[in-house]
Order: sequence, then structure tokens, then C-alpha cells
Amino acid sequence: MAVALGSNLGGSAQIFRRAISKLRDLSVTPVRVSSFWKTAPVDCPPGSPDFLNAVCVITVQAGERPESLLLELQTLEKEFGRRPKKVLNEPRPLDLDIIAFGQERRSGERLTLPHPRAAQRRFVLGPLAELEPDWVLPGRRLTIAALLQRLRD
Ligand code: ADP
Ligand code: MG
Repeated sequence: MAVALGSNLGGSAQIFRRAISKLRDLSVTPVRVSSFWKTAPVDCPPGSPDFLNAVCVITVQAGERPESLLLELQTLEKEFGRRPKKVLNEPRPLDLDIIAFGQERRSGERLTLPHPRAAQRRFVLGPLAELEPDWVLPGRRLTIAALLQRLRD
């Protein structure tokens, strides 16, 4: 499973380090962590601060469902000060998105898998390509590395 981290409010690197140690509690294998990428805001309100982005690869316990992982991630977001959003893509201390959960597919409003915008986002594909360049997300034809290359072209 891949979880994307984003933050553009507060001490983002420190928030990431603390959030990643919480992700360790959810994972039965050592969590693999990309480097932290500083990125310009995309589709955000004017004047939004730059983001820090990263991706972690985790393995949840056998039997855990994507829906329960999402609830756990949302609890973590709140722990790090996330408030209910008023404005689309407003600055936030911590955003945790499930990019992929094995071969699971969903298309609900509460949960879409793989994450619907992952394949268009350099700030997701870049960090994920450091860890799993050869993954092919469910429903895709191209690898992560190839999707990233396509964005560059
Ligand atoms: P964004 O991630 O687009 O910045 P939010 O974090 O506020 O915005 O998420 C909006 C909603 O997206 C959440 O309420 C969540 O239920 C839904 N959602 C749908 N698919 C996913 C996914 N794969 N990972 C995380 N959230 C998701
Ligand atoms: Mg989110």
C-alpha cells in the first residue's frame, strides 16, 4: 500500500517525521519512505505556501480493509491539526491519501482507489518512483516510472 503525505502549514518536515512514526504502528513491515519533495502548490488558493510531499509504502495487517485504513489516516490528520475544510485545497498541516491498496479498486466519494489523480501528479509519482518505479497501479497500463516520464514529456 502506498500513502501520500502532503503539508503546507506548520513545520512540515517535523510533522512528516512524527506522522511516519505513527504509520510504523499501522505497518507489519518496515515502512519505506521517499525523500521529502518541496513542490509548488497545484490548484490551490492564491498565495498558498509551497508543499512538502512524500510517499510511504506500508503493509497493513492481513484482513484490514482500505476503508479502515482511511479512517485511521483521517484520525492522524486530525491529530496533526487538520480542520474540516472550508476552501478547496486550502493550506493544511497534514494530508494523507491512499494512493493504492494492493489490487483493490473503489469508486466512491469517500474512497476512490487507486487515487484518481495520482497518475497526473508529479508530487505523487516522483516520490513513489523512488520506492516502486515498476509498480503498475490497478487499471493502468504504464508503470509509475513511465507515468512520470509521460508527465515530463
Ligand atoms: P485532498 O486530499 O484532495 O486534498 P481531502 O484530504 O480533504 O482533499 O480529501 C477529500 C476526501 O477525499 C476525503 O473526505 C476522502 O473521503 C476522499 N477520498 C477519496 N479517495 C481517497 C483516497 N484514495 N485517499 C484519501 N482520501 C480519499
Ligand atoms: Mg486527502
